[in-house]
Amino acid sequence: MTKWVYSFGDGLNEGRADMRNLLGGKGANLAEMASIGLPVPPGFTITTEVCSAFYENGRKYPDALEAQVAEALHRVEQSMGLRFGDAEAPLLVSVRSGARVSMPGMMDTVLNLGLNDETVEGLARSSGDARFAWDSYRRFIQMYGSVVMGVPHHHFEDVLEQFKRAHGAEDDTAITADQWRTIVTDYRHLISTHAGTDFPTDPHDQLWGAIGAVFGSWMNPRANTYRKLHEIPASWGTAVNVQSMVFGNMGDDCATGVCFTRDPSTGENVFYGEYLINAQGEDVVAGIRTPQPMASVRAEAGQQPMETVLPEAYSELMRVRSVLETHYKDMQDIEFTVQRNVLYILQTRNGKRTAAAALKIAIDMAREGLITQEDAIRRVPASSLDQLLHPTLDPRAERVQLTRGLPASPGAAAGAVVFSAEECEARAAKGEDVILVRIETSPEDVHGMHAARGVLTTRGGMTSHAAVVARGMGRVCVAGAGGIHVDYAAGTLSVGAHTVAQGEWITLDGGTGAVYLGRVPTIPPTLSDDFNTLMGWADAVRRLGVRANAETPEDARTARRFGAEGIGLARTEHMFFGPDRIGFVRQMIIADAEDVRQKAIAALLPFQREDFASLFRIMAGLPVTVRLLDPPLHEFLPHAEAEIAEVAQGLGKTAEEVRARCAALAETNPMLGHRGCRLGLTSPEIYAMQVRALIQAAVMVEKETGKPIRPEIMIPLVATQAELAVTRRAAEDEIAKVLKEEGTNLNYDIGTMIELPRAAIQADRIAEYADFFSFGTNDLTQTTFGLSRDDAGSFLPYYVDHGLLPRDPFVSIDRDGVGALVRLGVERGRQTSPDLKLGICGEHGGDPDSIAFFDEVGLDYVSCSPFRVPVARLAAAQAALATRQRVASSAA
Ligand code: ADP
Ligand code: MG
Ligand code: MG
Repeated sequence: MTKWVYSFGDGLNEGRADMRNLLGGKGANLAEMASIGLPVPPGFTITTEVCSAFYENGRKYPDALEAQVAEALHRVEQSMGLRFGDAEAPLLVSVRSGARVSMPGMMDTVLNLGLNDETVEGLARSSGDARFAWDSYRRFIQMYGSVVMGVPHHHFEDVLEQFKRAHGAEDDTAITADQWRTIVTDYRHLISTHAGTDFPTDPHDQLWGAIGAVFGSWMNPRANTYRKLHEIPASWGTAVNVQSMVFGNMGDDCATGVCFTRDPSTGENVFYGEYLINAQGEDVVAGIRTPQPMASVRAEAGQQPMETVLPEAYSELMRVRSVLETHYKDMQDIEFTVQRNVLYILQTRNGKRTAAAALKIAIDMAREGLITQEDAIRRVPASSLDQLLHPTLDPRAERVQLTRGLPASPGAAAGAVVFSAEECEARAAKGEDVILVRIETSPEDVHGMHAARGVLTTRGGMTSHAAVVARGMGRVCVAGAGGIHVDYAAGTLSVGAHTVAQGEWITLDGGTGAVYLGRVPTIPPTLSDDFNTLMGWADAVRRLGVRANAETPEDARTARRFGAEGIGLARTEHMFFGPDRIGFVRQMIIADAEDVRQKAIAALLPFQREDFASLFRIMAGLPVTVRLLDPPLHEFLPHAEAEIAEVAQGLGKTAEEVRARCAALAETNPMLGHRGCRLGLTSPEIYAMQVRALIQAAVMVEKETGKPIRPEIMIPLVATQAELAVTRRAAEDEIAKVLKEEGTNLNYDIGTMIELPRAAIQADRIAEYADFFSFGTNDLTQTTFGLSRDDAGSFLPYYVDHGLLPRDPFVSIDRDGVGALVRLGVERGRQTSPDLKLGICGEHGGDPDSIAFFDEVGLDYVSCSPFRVPVARLAAAQAALATRQRVASSAA
């Protein structure tokens, strides 16, 4: 026969912590705590399987349930020496819901169940405290009436308020037994008129009513919505816990409280929480009276810490605290009640905590020997490190949300709204904090983004230009906030009827995507010793190397500060946008006379050489991968009249001619157009110049520092072996020339991006000409799915919301499709050359789930934006531990 009911407490514990699926989190932990000897009032858990059976059978309980409940209840009666419904010494119980994962939307707990006009008198007599008995009764009716019978809570409050006003009672504790008796009558009237049925007086009816309400709440709209949002299957069901009552409302030697074994916001190893004397259940959080602190060290003047008010119960609680931490090996969130100086534990679970607390607790517990260093590495969610590296919103600050977009680059920033990169730079130069607001950004906005505190766009996804560049720079970014209408001409943005003009302040939370009106205060990040300790532990464990995507000196320095082991991607096109270069770049593209073009290219050479040299200097011998120019051509073309005039003058042409040339160069689909090695092949002088600048820079810095430098030259957008073969040959010829001129030698590598499906499929042939591969997973995702990341904002969110895709494939690698191509590329590439160096430099290089995948397929390194480097180091360590575990368990 199926066992539907599991007992706990008083020596019979049929459940365990690892039975959470069957008993729910609360029930499983009540049994576990009782079995390690902690003071848990006895009770029983009705399993989640009953819930499932209930819904499968048209809301009917399994036949055997009633008998099993009766038997378990009888056992509780025996342990407590009380009888349910007894007029002399009644057993009272609480009925508590509890799913596998804690879930708002589920039924609230009902306390003091079993009271009626008869048993309340028995309770008054047996406790010797009539006031307590009637206080418990009114609480029960109120909870049952609102939770089970659906009478809105505030009606009960209104009745109580009116009564208090009429009788001049300031506080609930001032109300006498007889007065509560009157209120009870009023409450019952209220229920009859409101619910259309009377409050049930038979304790068994009460019990089954409450059990039914818990199971019923599993399918209420609030719970359904929550489950959908959090991908919790409806089939999981909830459990119901029925537990004998203990009373925190029996007088001044009684209390109820909620606490954490360590401070959940800082992680400090100090008992943290709140309690209330002479109170019950949720009084602590209900705000009826002001709760008091637990520990004396945390008490301010005038407060009454539990440590001094209830010293006996407090020291017992300290003992429980250490038993629980030793047992669960994690910080616990505990609910307790003190009845006449005796402590009872009513709940424990792993406590929620901030990123900073998670870090500190993991390190401390490892040092205390409670967990291993490996556990500590696993404990800290890699993505949460982001929060530690950026300013965040002060959680206590008030805020008014304007709208929401995508959380494109973390951190929080406030500033005056501006709508152009120029304005942004001008104001920032005067020391103003500014937020750059654009419909979308392009490379020409980069200098403005750099000057801004944060960037807000109304179009584009997680890998839009704004998102990628902002992450790289460590700027806050909210992208694709489609609810905003930007009017450049008027200098305003609006959301519905609300308008914000240039110069007015807004605040961005790049971690959530929220946009707030005005200035919300932020708190600065701190890189603690704990952070460095954890990074050290992670580095000792991980197999994957971690490099950064960086091309500016500032980014390169940030990358090193965060522990990058080299640069995996320096995008040279970003170097072309500097105000001192863009003119030559435009001349180079637009010139038709060969000598004019050559002159423009030659003018760029010293700039490039200095760019590369400064990267080599900062990276001090660490590998640096430089990608040859991969322009979306259109981004370089002049648009504004002034720009056109400037180019025209430089080339000795008319504005009309320049415009015509631009029109001729325009592409319908630039992302699939004349870019990457295609440009390198048709205009070989550009790559030749870049290669020359790179080799000259390497030779120069090698001489300066006396340390060997081995540049890695990366050729973009290769689809065929021939493309790479020809481009490589050209680069080698140029290198030979430079080295001959310099009269020296240099080791270098030439490799390619694998960012087109054809390249992954042909990886064995391409590898014949490559010293390394770097998977460009942004473009590879784009080309594999055949979707443009700049235009995906209009349908990709729908896909994710409706389960057509599990996640945004630009954020987390699509293992089955794009990932399969990566795997194929790895296998075929290594077939040809077993020592082929393999990396990845798309945005996925900073995503923990994707990093786990890259570890699995055997890449050598990931490369990500500088601010993601710590995240990647930790994620790589977690991936390595997971791999070890898999290997160990498959060997066993
Ligand atoms: P939640 O899931 O919302 O935390 P609980 O089932 O834990 O709800 O109940 C809320 C509070 O009710 C508990 O923290 C505790 O103070 C009180 N409570 C629950 N069961 C009992 C009981 N058997 N005796 C005394 N108080 C109880
Ligand atoms: Mg609780
Ligand atoms: Mg690319």
